[in-house]
Amino acid sequence: MIPKMNFHTHTTFCDGKDSPENMVLAAIEKEFAALGFSGHSYTYFDESYCMSKEGVKKYQKEIQRLKKAYADRISIYCGVEQDFYSQEDISDFEYAIGSVHYIKKDGQFLSVDEGADITKKNIQEIFGGDPYAYAKVYFETVSDVLKKTKADIIGHFDLLTKFNENSVFFDTRDRRYRGYGTSAIEALIPYDKPFEINTGAIYRGLRSEAYPSVDFLKEIKGRGGKILLSSDSHDGNSLGYYFYEIVKLALEIGFQSILVWTPHGFEEVGLK
Ligand SMILES: [Zn+2]
Ligand SMILES: [Zn+2]
Repeated sequence: MIPKMNFHTHTTFCDGKDSPENMVLAAIEKEFAALGFSGHSYTYFDESYCMSKEGVKKYQKEIQRLKKAYADRISIYCGVEQDFYSQEDISDFEYAIGSVHYIKKDGQFLSVDEGADITKKNIQEIFGGDPYAYAKVYFETVSDVLKKTKADIIGHFDLLTKFNENSVFFDTRDRRYRGYGTSAIEALIPYDKPFEINTGAIYRGLRSEAYPSVDFLKEIKGRGGKILLSSDSHDGNSLGYYFYEIVKLALEIGFQSILVWTPHGFEEVGLK
């Protein structure tokens, strides 16, 4: 069963390329049953990619309009992608994805997903050339993401690998790296919230593997963790990208089901 739905969707209200209505039309074209929007929450220290304070209200109004206008064709949800360091209230969204896009070191916010050059510079200059010290701070932050954001979904668990294809910055099989990641998984499992399997970086041609990596998915499965599929879409074309391959992979790892969002919260759907 390949789920025809996506709950991680960006639009022109933040850093997406398509308007919410065009995303809905693209989803209908792909015969999706549901589409959840997750605009980036406002972060005061970086306004370049997120919804503005005023924009959030307009976003909510527009998604509510679309929800009614397309109610007979697709289920639409108004969610948010809450950054770890965002200070915004998220109680008036239907659900939230909790995501770490920055780590904090010596009072500075360091982006982990902005560019390979920035990742290189941060490891060199802020972490004295030690990529495992960088990974440690990242995963310590991720460990607290649900406690801090009160989100329903764990966003792109190992986003720090975005520019690390072929282990250019650090070896993801290194004992230290795996240890920090596994500790974060152990900290998050008790919340009983799904880890998204996010294909966004595959669509962008940056990665050959989804977030979380196969190694971490096995750790999640081994501890009874749950999953949800997401294409972290910034344009209509990417909706549901690589889901066929991911379902195959999830089954191979041993997952029998995924969670999907519904008007009553999460529901479990079998993968077979
Ligand atoms: Zn994100
Ligand atoms: Zn996103």
